[in-house]
Formats: sequence, C-alpha cells, structure tokens
Amino acid sequence: MKTSIPLAFILLILSFQVHAKWFSHQFETMGTLAKVEFELSDEKSGQKIVNQVVAEMERINQAMSPYIESSELSKLNRSAAKAPQKVSKELFDLVARSLEISELTHGAFDISFSSIGYLYDYRHSKKPSESQLAELKSAINYRNIHLDKEKQTIFFDDKRLKIDLGGIGKGHAVDRCIQLLQREGIHNGFVNAGGDTRIIGRKTDRPWYIGIRHPRDESKLIANLPLEDVALSTSGDYERFFEADGIRYHHIIDPKTGDSARAIQSATILADDSTFADALSTSIFILGVKDGMALVNQLENVSAIMVDNKGKMFLSSDLTQAN
Ligand code: ADP
Ligand code: MG
Repeated sequence: MKTSIPLAFILLILSFQVHAKWFSHQFETMGTLAKVEFELSDEKSGQKIVNQVVAEMERINQAMSPYIESSELSKLNRSAAKAPQKVSKELFDLVARSLEISELTHGAFDISFSSIGYLYDYRHSKKPSESQLAELKSAINYRNIHLDKEKQTIFFDDKRLKIDLGGIGKGHAVDRCIQLLQREGIHNGFVNAGGDTRIIGRKTDRPWYIGIRHPRDESKLIANLPLEDVALSTSGDYERFFEADGIRYHHIIDPKTGDSARAIQSATILADDSTFADALSTSIFILGVKDGMALVNQLENVSAIMVDNKGKMFLSSDLTQAN
C-alpha cells in the first residue's frame, strides 16, 4: 500500500517522542537559582530524580552554609581552633581539595578568606573597618588549616581563622547531582547552580548552548558556546556587590589584601568537573589575566575566558590556536 510507509514513519516519530521525554525543574537553593534538565523515558522515575536532585542540593546547603548556625561548617568554625574536630568524609575531602587548589594557585584560592570575608555584608553595604583589616588580614592563611587524614579531623592553628566554601561548594553540589543522574542511567543532562554548570551528553540532536553573560550588561552575552560533556563556571564582580565612594566591593576577596579583587570583571573556566571549575574561576579572577592565563595554559583540559576591568576579553591559548 502506498500510504503505509509514511504512516509507519509518523508512528515511529511519535513513539520516539514518547520515549525521549525531557524533564526540567528550576528551584532556589544555596542562596541562588538552580536548574536540572535531563532526558528519560519513564515519567514516574523522572519526577523522582528531580526530587532527589533538589534534596541533594539542599542537603549540601544545610551541611556547608556559613549562614546556617547548625551546619557542619559553622560548628567547625566555632571549635576547630580549640582542638582537632572530626568531620564527615564529604567535608574533609572538600577542604582537602580546597587546600590542594590553594597550592596550585599560589594562595589565590584560600577558604580562610572568610577570616575577614565574614565582615562584609553586601546586602547592607557593610565592610570591615581599617583596624579590623589590619588585625585580621594575617589570619587568612590556608597553611594554618591542618588535616589528619587517618583521624578525619580538621584543626585551625589560629584562633581568628574561619573558613567558607562559597568558592567551591556549588561546584561540588553540581558534581554530586550529575553523579546522581549518571547513577540513574541518564546520558543527556544538565545541572546548574548560580554560575556553575555541568552537562553530560547532548541536548537531543545538538550540543548544549551555554551563554556567558556580559559583566556590565545583563541583557547581553559575551559568548554562547556549543558544549558537550563539560563543566563551566563563571565568577563575576556583578553577583554580590555594593559601591562606596566610587569603589566596587564584591564577594571575591584577594587573600593578600582582604579586599575585593579588582583586575577582572568576569572569569570563566571550562574543565572536566564542576568542583575544579568553580574553584579555578574564583582563583583566576583573583590572579588576573597574566597569571591566571599562565596557570590555565599549563593545565590539561582547562580553558578560560576572562574580561578585564577595561572590558577587554581574553582567551586561553587552546581557544585561539588552530588545530
Ligand atoms: P558565586 O557563584 O557564588 O558567584 P564564585 O565562584 O564567583 O561564586 O566565588 C565567589 C565566592 O567564593 C564568594 O562568595 C566567597 O564565598 C568565596 N571566595 C571569595 N574569595 C575567595 C578566595 N580568595 N578563595 C576562596 N574562596 C573565596
Ligand atoms: Mg567559583
């Protein structure tokens, strides 16, 4: 019959669409907006997986937020200078990874930035006084954070020291959620929390497009990248800031000064996992174009896009070389 071929074809397309269902959910967590998207054929499990992703993000928020008094991180900050504190493997491993990244970035990434950082309140335009800065600046020193791998304990060798995982925690949460999707057998998916995104596979028949916003014009993108199987993290001075006497005070702190880093407006890292991408984007923001790009260019599978404080864009060498 003449008509049977197109009919069979239409039925095939319809059945494909039934199988290729996309789930998408946006929610608030960790003081920001998060999103999960993935492809799955089973509607019931799809909803269950969405709920698991939301719960996983919130679990990490409850454990690692410095704003929640009962969080494991807040407890650690209250007691780790008195005696070594036993912590969960998850917190121990994330602090250990943070210290490795401090070494890699020559101290630009330093979770003890919070020894002064906690005195900034961007919503209420508050910053530390000159005397507080003078008194606490030397408390920013990751070398005073001591880990005992066998006992799984953390000790701060300075009573003034506080830590904050805000520069790596969202990346960690994104990685955990991607692992959750992978455990469920999902091949095409996307997880985002604030400036941190990780994608697996493709968006059906094309790559994912991830936009990087213009640091001074919310309505514009500086790039819209077609991507597959990669993590992308952007750190910007426009996320949380206030201005006083014409100076922008924002949430990325140079450990050397205790003040906001001002050489860069936006720093994006592409890497294999979100934990590393998150910490590195914060780090190169502080290092600036010259030192930041030098570091990125010596790392395998890491690319960077930076916008300096004059609005000029820079790319890592792998993005400009022909191959
Ligand atoms: P976000 O996605 O929250 O904008 P970023 O990746 O840009 O995060 O990192 C900014 C956060 O990193 C700050 O809110 C703070 O918690 C933390 N941070 C600031 N300065 C440093 C630093 N020198 N080292 C490590 N973490 C930092
Ligand atoms: Mg970061």
